[in-house]
Amino acid sequence: MKKRRNIGLFITVVSILLILGVVGWFLWSIFEGEKPQVTVEPLPEFLSGSEQFSLTASDMKRGLKVVEVSVNQEGRNILVFEKKFPFKGLFNSEGIHQFDTEFSIDPAKLNLAQGRVDLQISVWDYSRRRGGDGNQSLVEHKMTVDTIPPAIRAISRMHYVNVGGTGFIVYQASSDSIESGLFVNDFLFPGFKVEGSEEGYHVCYFAISHNIKANPEVNLWAKDKAGNQSTASFYCKIRRKRFRTEKLNITDRFLKRILPYFSFYTLNPADTDIKKFLMINRNLRKDNGSVFYNLRTETNPEKLWDGTWVRLKNAANMAGFADRRLYYYKGKKVDEQVHMGVDLASLANSKVQAANNGRVIFADRLGIYGLTVVLDHGQGLSSVYSHLSKIDVDINQEVMKGEAIGLTGQTGLAGGDHLHFGIMVSGMPVNPIEWWDSHWIQDNITRKLAFLKNK
Ligand SMILES: [Zn+2]
Repeated sequence: MKKRRNIGLFITVVSILLILGVVGWFLWSIFEGEKPQVTVEPLPEFLSGSEQFSLTASDMKRGLKVVEVSVNQEGRNILVFEKKFPFKGLFNSEGIHQFDTEFSIDPAKLNLAQGRVDLQISVWDYSRRRGGDGNQSLVEHKMTVDTIPPAIRAISRMHYVNVGGTGFIVYQASSDSIESGLFVNDFLFPGFKVEGSEEGYHVCYFAISHNIKANPEVNLWAKDKAGNQSTASFYCKIRRKRFRTEKLNITDRFLKRILPYFSFYTLNPADTDIKKFLMINRNLRKDNGSVFYNLRTETNPEKLWDGTWVRLKNAANMAGFADRRLYYYKGKKVDEQVHMGVDLASLANSKVQAANNGRVIFADRLGIYGLTVVLDHGQGLSSVYSHLSKIDVDINQEVMKGEAIGLTGQTGLAGGDHLHFGIMVSGMPVNPIEWWDSHWIQDNITRKLAFLKNK
């Protein structure tokens, strides 16, 4: 009898525990406290126009009840997106547990004012928590509405630029602009803010490429923090220029002399000498061109140069800027390249002087250019000295106009001792002749800068 009563008690206790367990599980599951997951992309700092957002909401337990997107500006609340999900099946087992959507916010359509706006995304689930409202996830993100593009206008007036030459402009950009400059077609020449200018005056050196086709589009350009962009046209007259064509005869003797220098360059030993030469003249030349181009960012935001530029003393012009060089081998044309500097020849191992004040941004061996020095003169202007036999400066060293930086030579692809001298404007090679001409500097730069001094 006692035993049977004990078994009965045991069954009752187990049953009560089971019922409590089931009720507990039931309550725990319908009152679950896990918030829905929400992700929104992107989360921009600024709204400059209509912006598209992607939203993902999920709730693996009770499922999603409501997704709501709104923007709030100075107490004004605008509902942007709302979705209610029906309760389906036992405990919403057939309800929606994951939801993906896109929505857009257009400041113009929503009539938003310039300035702060808050994005709010609320997602509720079907838990019975919080008096039946469910668990809520809230994503809040502060943004700034800025749909007004920066203002930009030319200040200097006369802009006559030779094809292959340099142009210079003084312009004004509003204080909200974070980047500005001048576009020639799709090539950007960055502008530089005049130090201490409260009016937002900027200067920009630009160039018209020697091989430009037809009349290029030349426009000032500015961008603000929000990404708004402006362009402005200005008076710019481009003068056509003709460049020389030069025939170069490649002899076997020349190949035998220059090829050993290029042992560092991977060439196929099975190739003929002329084939090796063509690899150097085409591929290596191109690689070296990008090294020069990439130096464009290594520039001082302020002007370092002053006055007319120094030209190698007592030197004859051997080759000009943008000369079209036709290469002949055994009577047949084998290659064609454009010469991106001026070749100056004096006595062998002549002293090479810094053309103007600047800083050394390259001092090393550079492929077909041999031992090379590049000086930065600020605001995107740089000068190049190649085929040197000796370099007398170190990287980052500051140099004064006329200071010795090395000796002429014939390293690299050079037919004899000479200096290959080049000038670049934001990485684009330009005709150095203009920079040796004090009248050109006076008319095209000094006069425009004088306006700023009188301010
Ligand atoms: Zn040259």
